[in-house]
Amino acid sequence: MIVNNFLRIQVIFLSLVLAVNVMAAGGGDVIATDPTKHFHPKGKMPSSFTVDLQNKMRQSLPFDDTRDFEEQKKGFISAPEYKQIMAEAGHVAWDIGSYEWLLQGEDFDSIHPSLQRQAILNMNYGLYEVIPGIYQVRGYDLANISFIQGETGWIVFDPLTAKETAAAALKFINEQLGERPVVAVVYSHSHADHFGGVRGVVDEADVRSGKVKVIAPIGFMDHAVSENVYAGNAMSRRLFFQYGVLLPRSPYGHVDQSIGKNTAAGNLGLIPPNVVIEKDFETLTVDGVRMEFQNTPGTEAPAEMNTWFPDFKALWAAENIVATIHNIYTLRGALVRDALEWSKQINVALYKYGRQAEVMFASHSWPRWGNKRIQEVMRAQRDTYANLNNGVLHLANQGVTINQVHNVYEVPESLQQQWAARSYHGSVAHNSRAVINRYLGYWDGNPTTLVPLSPEDSAPLYVEMMGGTAKIIAKGKELFDQGKYRYAQEILNKLVYAEPQNQEAKDLLADVFEQIGYQQESPSVRNSFLAAAYELRSGIPQGASPKSTGPDMIRAMTTELWLDFLGIRLDSKKAGGKAFTINLTTPDNGEQFVVELSNGTLTNIEGFQAEDADLTITINREDLEGTMMGVISFDEQIVSGKAKLDGDRQVYEDLKSMLVHFDLGFEMMPGTGDTDLTPEQEPFEAEEPANTAGG
Ligand SMILES: [Zn+2]
Repeated sequence: MIVNNFLRIQVIFLSLVLAVNVMAAGGGDVIATDPTKHFHPKGKMPSSFTVDLQNKMRQSLPFDDTRDFEEQKKGFISAPEYKQIMAEAGHVAWDIGSYEWLLQGEDFDSIHPSLQRQAILNMNYGLYEVIPGIYQVRGYDLANISFIQGETGWIVFDPLTAKETAAAALKFINEQLGERPVVAVVYSHSHADHFGGVRGVVDEADVRSGKVKVIAPIGFMDHAVSENVYAGNAMSRRLFFQYGVLLPRSPYGHVDQSIGKNTAAGNLGLIPPNVVIEKDFETLTVDGVRMEFQNTPGTEAPAEMNTWFPDFKALWAAENIVATIHNIYTLRGALVRDALEWSKQINVALYKYGRQAEVMFASHSWPRWGNKRIQEVMRAQRDTYANLNNGVLHLANQGVTINQVHNVYEVPESLQQQWAARSYHGSVAHNSRAVINRYLGYWDGNPTTLVPLSPEDSAPLYVEMMGGTAKIIAKGKELFDQGKYRYAQEILNKLVYAEPQNQEAKDLLADVFEQIGYQQESPSVRNSFLAAAYELRSGIPQGASPKSTGPDMIRAMTTELWLDFLGIRLDSKKAGGKAFTINLTTPDNGEQFVVELSNGTLTNIEGFQAEDADLTITINREDLEGTMMGVISFDEQIVSGKAKLDGDRQVYEDLKSMLVHFDLGFEMMPGTGDTDLTPEQEPFEAEEPANTAGG
């Protein structure tokens, strides 16, 4: 059985690798393309309107402030000879070289000048000294990996997304500065680009024995997985847009991801922490290094913490202060964040540590040196988040709605002129809408939008009333030729919904999206427009699956979370008229659940057993994990005796037949092809949580 399981794991890994490779081939993920040519046969160059806009930006933004470039290269020690890092599975996990066309001194009119500037700054690559005793390896993954020199070894802050990139970074620093063991790992927060590579720097046995400390903020394990399970499939699909998964790296495609170039495609793991920081502030000395942790829940992540190093006068700002205004709403989909709380936590860090700090470094971007500069950056970000919250609510209280605020709210001019306050990750537009969404929800107060028709139902009426297809195409072209892209998308979008198979309409809408994409400062927004254009032109490629999480993420899922998700996977119509009660017991961890099907709804409650259950299922949690990972089916668990069923077996068979698996290939834009992207899964296999790398 062990051999059998091993083989199945291999098959799963192979299929993951295959998926990543197909993705690379289909969308050119790591394929270098000729930067002078558009990668798509239907692709268009930037229009004269787009070029004019970029030129205006070149004149109005503070390009004479070049301090970021000085800070970005300060402390550089060495870069490795290689540009690619291979995954254990054989594909390319990371390729900084695929963006080198950014470094040839050319201004690309297909890229917002401010975004191109950020994209160049994010080309940091190699080992950097922050101050003697604190080092960073940058450009090995989306995030930075930081190394604090203790008395005997390294304390690693945030070990990247992938085992392979983290291991390469550790190897490189040891080659450059002398071999040292890793004595501790700190996870600054619960997003995958900050913990996924932990297996590349430590051995799990050393964490279990306590030899190596793994330190995390309160709530870390709950949020590392749970944030991304319930809506995981939808989030994974939407990542295609936010992260431009299918876009080749090109001036006409993917150029940057605001907080780094892109996410590494390697082995994503998770070793649970053995030290949890529970209080608002906690002090700990590890390997002779004094650290004061500041928990900042409810900021960039639900579990996050800054760290103050009093002996270095160094502030680690986690992902709370990086070289962009971040997402209050992340386009892959997530609960809306709290801009005011974020601002307040920056203010706490400023008043407790920032006024004494001589250096501030973080999990993305580059450090800031000198107290004046640190305070300047902290205040710029504190004020930008606070103004976003207060300014938007100021407007909302005067009647401005979620459907207007992005056209009304403006960042104060003094903040617009500071690079550290520019909105690369979160755009001003989508963040301002998010603030209203957080406080007032999605409804603008107009009953027309309260129970609207679905777009595919209303679109044919619009098309008819606008005089038909030919008139809309003609007007759409006219608006496109006048550079009125947002007007053009209004009417062409209706036509595409009414006629999903009309390729001329889809191509024209793609052309419109492309120009809007080129004009965006935020790569998340740019990628979303360019990815939609790609799918309108070419459809969704077969086999383009970004599945990248590993068994650790499934193992970290609680049984309750798994049962909750079975409830989401239940086809309520198939369950109609049926009712049953199941007692589920996992003896090895002492957990008990009652699972009830009633009214077409599957619910569960922990800590109870029903006296009149139709069926009792007993299986150790350790064995259940094999089924959750898809390594062994529940049927096989029953045959092997690992799972025991007492009572009405038909209940089990019924439940099995009511569960559906979600597929990643659903259409985001009409007429782009319904592709089956998800390999067949066992009925009780858990869906992979979405990969949150990048927040
Ligand atoms: Zn991050």
